[in-house]
Parts: sequence; structure tokens; C-alpha cells
Amino acid sequence: MKEKVLVTGGAGYIGSHVVKLLVDAGHDVVVYDNLSTGYRSAVLEAKLVVGDVGDCEKLDATFSDENFTAVMHFAGSIIVPESVTDPIKYYINNTTNSLCLLDCCVRHGVNRFIFSSTAAVYGMGGESGSVSESSPVNPINPYGRSKLMTEWILEDLSRSNSNFNFIALRYFNVAGADPSGKLGQRGPEATHLIKVALQAALGVREHMEIFGADYDTPDGTGIRDYIHVLDLAQAHLDALSYLRDDGNSQILNCGYGRGFSVREVISMVKQVSGVDFKVIESERRAGDAPYLVAIPDRLEDLLEWRPKYRDLKWMIETAYNFEQGIDQLS
Ligand code: UDP
Repeated sequence: MKEKVLVTGGAGYIGSHVVKLLVDAGHDVVVYDNLSTGYRSAVLEAKLVVGDVGDCEKLDATFSDENFTAVMHFAGSIIVPESVTDPIKYYINNTTNSLCLLDCCVRHGVNRFIFSSTAAVYGMGGESGSVSESSPVNPINPYGRSKLMTEWILEDLSRSNSNFNFIALRYFNVAGADPSGKLGQRGPEATHLIKVALQAALGVREHMEIFGADYDTPDGTGIRDYIHVLDLAQAHLDALSYLRDDGNSQILNCGYGRGFSVREVISMVKQVSGVDFKVIESERRAGDAPYLVAIPDRLEDLLEWRPKYRDLKWMIETAYNFEQGIDQLS
């Protein structure tokens, strides 16, 4: 069945990949994005409304114009260190603005909602570092807290209104790009490992750092669960089908259930690029867990999600392909 989907933040990295899959699957999509970190050129075949989710009047007018059947909410701020220095920005963009959007959903009777949440809600990840949705939440920065607060709002709303159902997807470390080279991770200040390493390979930066080589892990560096953006995008379509089939509200981890260390990732970037760039071992970064890996069983069981792109090499190849062509993009 064709859906009419509002995608906030659809001009950004993950949102743009989801929009492409939605359009390819025959859904009708309207992207709503203020283009603060997104790019007009990343909206390939959907209608774009330039607006801020915090502009409740404009958002409401868009709901009135369009008769949406579902909402996917990607718009938000995502840089952890920035959230520590500017928490208000994070609580406004990630929490307050979500309220504005949810209020529109309630008033316009839109009852299917998919929310971009994050593994940052698990904080340091507890003893083992492998986390399921029933593991304790304990975010240690305003970014994780602002997202967790929105999860709580969603839970309260779905309890108060039996017609309203949501899926909150807790993303682990998203990487890779659409092989076309048109969509990928853009932005002036890269902080994520794979992007930083690729920039070092391409000479955009002179060297890169390993933040902590003395962790209690096999090679001393941090371990994360890297998930290809196309598999993550598919999880959103699976979530939409699940809600359409009258599935009830869920919070689900999005990862593969296996981890790679910082050294393993860097070594793969060197292999893919063929460049032996300079790597410096430096201090641990504040707030970094040694090991954070998803237990994704519920995503696979409930949504029948079947990932296709677990291969780290392909993840890095697609990201490298995008990074090489980034200067040609508008
Ligand atoms: N990391 C690193 N150097 C960098 C960026 C990241 O050593 O320039 C490490 C970081 O300490 C963590 C892992 O790479 O162990 C993933 O960090 P990233 O910022 O990509 O994602 P996070 O897990 O913090 O969301």
C-alpha cells in the first residue's frame, strides 16, 4: 500500500538514503528540512519543503496541505561534543521540536511515527558492552539525553492514544554510502571515525588520531558496531510495513551485533584507499565507551529485517567512493 510520508531531515545523510528507498518502493514522500546541515541536492526525487521543525505554524500548514499517513523524523542535531558545550541547542532541536511535530501528528490524525534515536542512550554500555533494548539506559551527554527524552514522550503519547504507534530506532555507528556516489555523509566538521580516516587517506587532513590505545580490548582501541546506511535505511521501510500491519510501538536497536576496533577500521581504510596515512595515538576522548555493540535480535525478529551489507570493506569502499566525489556535488 502506498504511503504518504513526511520525512523531516530528509536532506541529511541517513534521511536522504531512506527517501531514495521510499521513492523506489513507490511511496509518496515530502521532505521537510531547514537545510542547516542537509543539502538540497541530496533530495533526489521527492518534494522538498524548506522549513524548521520548530516552526510549528509552517509545519502545521504542511500537514494541512499534504494528508500524511506516516512520519519519519530524522531532523535533529547529532554532534556529541557540541551537545556538551551547547545543550540548549540539543534540547530545542531534538526534544522541543519533536513535541511540535508530535502535536501536529495528533491534531492531523497521523498515527504512524518512526524516530531516529541513538545508541548514545546506553551511555558507557554497562559491563559487557553488548546491549539489548532492555539494557539500562544511562546517557552521559545532552545529545543522548535529548533523544531519550523524545523516546519517553513517544511512549507517553502511545500510551495515551491507542491509535498512535511509533518505532524508535536506536542507531549504532552508521557508515557507508549509496554506491551512486550522490548520497553520503557531508558536513564541514567530521568527527566520526570512518569519515576522518577517509579524509586522512585523501589528504584533506594531514594525519588522524586514535583516541585511546589502552582500553581493555584485544588491540587496546575502542570497539563499535558499524552498520551500513543502506541496511539502516531498509530498517525504516521495514518499520513502516510493521506499523501498517498494525504492529504496536517498539524501541529497536540497529546494528549488526558485531564490532570492529579503531585499528581494524583504520587498517581497512588504508587497504581500500591504498594510502598509508599518518596515525597518532593520543588520549582517550571523554565519554567514549571501550566497547559498544548492539544485540539486534528484536529488529530481525519483529521487523523481519535482513541486512545485506555487513561487509566492512564494502562499507568503506562506498564511503570512499562518495568522499572522492564530494567536491563535485552541489
Ligand atoms: N575515534 C578515533 N579517532 C577519531 C574518531 C573516532 O579514535 O578521529 C574512535 C572513538 O574514540 C571511538 C570510535 O572511533 O572509539 C568511534 O567513534 P565515532 O566518533 O566514529 O562514533 P561514536 O561511537 O563516538 O558515536
